[in-house]
Amino acid sequence: MNQKIRVLVAKPGLDGHDRGALVVAQALRDEGMEVVYTGLRQTPAQIVNAAIQEDVDCIGLSCLSGAHNELFPEVVRLLREHGADDILVVGGGVIPQEDIPFLKSQGISEIFTPGTPTAVTADFIRNNVKRKRMSLVQPPKKIAHIGIAVSRIESALPFYTEQLGLPLLGTEVVESEQVRIAFLGIGESRLELLEPLGPDSPIARFLEKRGEGIHHIALDVDDIEERLTRLKENGVPLIHETPKTGAHGAQITFLHPKAAGGVLFELCQYPAAKGEHQSE
Ligand code: ZN
Repeated sequence: MNQKIRVLVAKPGLDGHDRGALVVAQALRDEGMEVVYTGLRQTPAQIVNAAIQEDVDCIGLSCLSGAHNELFPEVVRLLREHGADDILVVGGGVIPQEDIPFLKSQGISEIFTPGTPTAVTADFIRNNVKRKRMSLVQPPKKIAHIGIAVSRIESALPFYTEQLGLPLLGTEVVESEQVRIAFLGIGESRLELLEPLGPDSPIARFLEKRGEGIHHIALDVDDIEERLTRLKENGVPLIHETPKTGAHGAQITFLHPKAAGGVLFELCQYPAAKGEHQSE
């Protein structure tokens, strides 16, 4: 469900030329976006209604008449009034440089003056829409656990239980990963000691290459599927494209360490949190 970016190209005001707007509309289509064009002489109210009905991610306003300082901010104001201010608004046309800071202060994200390559416009829209979509996903709630690779749990454990005094909450074998795990409680998080069950375990390969030490950091998230979709859309390298079942019946997935400068991140969604936001 890699959602295409939807853009409404609109011509507010009274000027009667839409060649520029049509060129931009076609260029955005060529960039893989779905583009709706409103036609000439639209009022801000008509534009906002069309944007909401068409469920677009972005409105591109084009104005040649000189009325941009009234019309563009009015579109942003009406979006806000309709609770649709998650829609990105950009503008173009004949707009003097000195008007640009005012327009940006009014909530227009960017102004593209004539001669801007359409690839620049498309990249701006793409990056900002992706960021907006990602911001709709709840941030991770906490560190679920830190995974530590050890050769033998029994040898590693006394440091954690006797020297640090952490409670051993239990152990579990996860066959799919060929790993045995010891869970140590630390506040609302855990440390997990990971021991390989056989030479094919990812932990065995890690120990061979890097020796014992921190293996991964797991983040507790509410909406693992949605987040994976967004990460995929944004080109973040993943190890798994879909979640699988890990310890404690959690849905888990790993991002590729390339995504985070060599740190292996795991996303974890625990059964109790699935499909609801905890109100603690
Ligand atoms: Zn883990």
